[in-house]
Amino acid sequence: MRKAISVIMSGICMMPLLTACGNPADTVKSADFFAMDTYMNLKAYGRDAEAAVAEAEARIYELEQTFSVTDEASDIWQINHAAGEAVSVSADTISVLQTARQMHTESGGAFCISLYPVLRAWGFTTGEYRIPTDSEIANLLQNCDDTKISVQGGGVRIPEHSAIDLGAVAKGYTGDAVMEILREHHISSAMINLGGNVQALGCKPDGSAWTVGITDPFAPDSMIGTVRVTDKAVITSGNYERYFTGDDGQKYWHILDPETGCPADNGLVSVTVIGDSGAQCDALSTALFAEGTEPAVQHWRRSGDFEMILVTSDGDLLMSEGIAADYTAKKDMPCRVVQRDEKP
Ligand code: AMP
Ligand code: MG
Repeated sequence: MRKAISVIMSGICMMPLLTACGNPADTVKSADFFAMDTYMNLKAYGRDAEAAVAEAEARIYELEQTFSVTDEASDIWQINHAAGEAVSVSADTISVLQTARQMHTESGGAFCISLYPVLRAWGFTTGEYRIPTDSEIANLLQNCDDTKISVQGGGVRIPEHSAIDLGAVAKGYTGDAVMEILREHHISSAMINLGGNVQALGCKPDGSAWTVGITDPFAPDSMIGTVRVTDKAVITSGNYERYFTGDDGQKYWHILDPETGCPADNGLVSVTVIGDSGAQCDALSTALFAEGTEPAVQHWRRSGDFEMILVTSDGDLLMSEGIAADYTAKKDMPCRVVQRDEKP
């Protein structure tokens, strides 16, 4: 699987100066590892960087186990195999499910974690790809309804024959959990990349903003541009991240449209969301992708607490006005800056 975003950390100043985010006594600790089916990197600057990164890595493994759809000890496996009964789960799972339920509503149903049985039919869960028949999809869609997920107290219940997966939001939630640990260790400067989900804590040690590259969905080894961020999550959903080409020569990707049970093909090939919360940005990037171009723009206008960079299937770039000044183009493409008060 390709990384959705490349992180550029060039020009990090190691001179012993007291700067906005750095301190002469800071040490740097970096860790690379594989978790949640993807490559991850944590990099932190601070006196306590080593302990902070070790604790963060352990927390990631803990959340990986909690959110796994295949591990029989996980909360999600228990929920999916409870035959309609309530299951008692961790506070982490409750929190992610609340974010997911809210995003289902805010996206008009486009964000739908109960699509899991349909994803499985396409082979996106195993890599054994196939194109399901129309009737197979129609049958499976009957059990996909996020409004039937009940979250009460510490208990979760889904209807029998339904199943959920948190692939669209778990890494963002995990990024927030990592940020919390880094802050507890008084880390003032850090950059984490959880398989393309980038989250920045503070600024670079030299006091300048972090620079995050946005992958070109038409040429995933290169970038369309970069954004400068401080204390933000930058999370991308793209049609190049997991896909297969069918015998019919068509490309089928891993973000599905709950209306059709087929890959969401509503005018977008890549959605990057920039905001304060990793969980929110992760859920949003998937939601906006499934919604499609104009509904995504309307969603942004209603919200007001995130910025976005959209790439359309025609090769156009659309970005919300709040991020335009921090974006540097690396590829020449038609660009429209979307204004908050613009008529659709
Ligand atoms: P992301 O890379 O964050 O956009 O998440 C993609 C993953 O979300 C997929 O691999 C599926 O596990 C899951 N997914 C696919 N379509 C949807 C959807 N419409 N709503 C919620 N989750 C989805
Ligand atoms: Mg997502």
